[in-house]
Amino acid sequence: MSAIQTVNVGRLPFERFESLMDPERYAAFRAAVDRSRELLDGRIVWNVNSTARGGGVAEMLVSLLAYANGAGVNARWEVISGTDPFFGLTKRIHNNLHSAAGDGGDLGEAERRIYEEALAPNIAEFVEMVRPQDVVIVHDPQPAGLIEPLKERGVAVIWRCHVGIDVPSELSRRAWSFLRPYVEPADAYVFSRRQFVWEGLDDDKIELIAPVIDAFAAKNQELSPETVSAILACTGLEGDSPDGDPVFLREDGSPERVVRRATIWEGSELNAGDPVVLQISRWDRLKDPIGVIQGFVDGVLPQTDAHLVYAGPDVTAVADDPEGKEVLEEAVTLFQNLPAQARERLHLVAVPMDDVEENAAIINALQRRADVVVQKSIAEGFGLTVAEGMWKARPVVASRIGGIQDQIEDGVSGVLLDDPTDLGAYGEAVSGLLLDPERARAMGEAAQARVRNEFLAVRSLMQYLDLIEKITS
Ligand code: UDP
Repeated sequence: MSAIQTVNVGRLPFERFESLMDPERYAAFRAAVDRSRELLDGRIVWNVNSTARGGGVAEMLVSLLAYANGAGVNARWEVISGTDPFFGLTKRIHNNLHSAAGDGGDLGEAERRIYEEALAPNIAEFVEMVRPQDVVIVHDPQPAGLIEPLKERGVAVIWRCHVGIDVPSELSRRAWSFLRPYVEPADAYVFSRRQFVWEGLDDDKIELIAPVIDAFAAKNQELSPETVSAILACTGLEGDSPDGDPVFLREDGSPERVVRRATIWEGSELNAGDPVVLQISRWDRLKDPIGVIQGFVDGVLPQTDAHLVYAGPDVTAVADDPEGKEVLEEAVTLFQNLPAQARERLHLVAVPMDDVEENAAIINALQRRADVVVQKSIAEGFGLTVAEGMWKARPVVASRIGGIQDQIEDGVSGVLLDDPTDLGAYGEAVSGLLLDPERARAMGEAAQARVRNEFLAVRSLMQYLDLIEKITS
């Protein structure tokens, strides 16, 4: 079997962005498309990472590469293979980059051998596939060892680091030291934000490109209020909806129906007119489900008639996510120990994961149903759920950490919480918005405009084009 596996990349029409952009910006984008055809004629833009499925990076690649292809660029996606010790090691590196010890192991000479030996067959295959006129974008630490051999072949190489923390630690510096020799030969290093840039890299090669969302994907596409109600009725969260069908469009454009129920812990069903406060997150302590629920019960419930919906993926059936299960159980235990009048206003939802696009459509409906979206995380890289809520013109209350600060302008396109552990401030911010619908509406509109200008695929595609132009000229 080959070491390198090709992922089929779709083709999406970039013209759809015309409906979302003002004419001037769209004209600039069209001009960039023309420039890209000229610049990239006869070249392949290769993307290399270590997984075709799961996680935000893969999700973003699916749509960005499909739009690039739709614009006439030959954008390809290859996935490297590795051994168990290699993936154990790269998981440790990933944890260290986030200041976590992971399995507590070393990053020394023995680990270099594991890393380089596992990458050797990938390198041997891949350097035969590329031509010197091509461009390769290497994503994250796993394939970083490919950079030097590609440079020796005369290829332009971009290293894209998707992870980072605001304040470096001994552990993150240790991971940088391990990776730096592999990364250094690249022509450019792309980070999501300034604070994530490693020490010791050539500043002239640094580019900042923030993540984006796909406005047309099942997660973010427009849904009518009737469709939202129908989808939520189908999941069991709201009562039957006579007017709409629970439908959405798949990535390939084909219509589909939401068919699965969610697992829900609640005092009673959500009614059509009930105001909703929503947090969507994996079941992870760093998303602070306990604080979100307790802060709502103490600070929002007495002031308003709102309900809290806390939704995450269905982990009950997933054996290999013990932490997710544990965190969900903690949330359910808290729920069960609350008085009945609090439980009446709480809905913990485990959203089925059998079909990722169906899951995305349910998340989309929940976000569109919400009056206020919350992301009260303790730690966050970017926080895609924030951009997703903003795109749906929801006022978002979120922690002033990581990339959330780049998305929300405090008081204008959302509310930033200075101290994510201050439950009183969180409760006040949420209640304040629920009690002032005019301010909430204006904030939601500003939020949507901000995402339209800053966090849609168009911005990222144009930044990559500029960067490729710079390193190939
Ligand atoms: N998400 C989802 N289904 C769920 C829960 C979350 O699709 O049941 C999505 C969510 O909409 C977002 C992503 O998972 O697109 C989470 O990304 P984010 O950056 O917010 O946090 P992370 O999970 O990467 O820490």
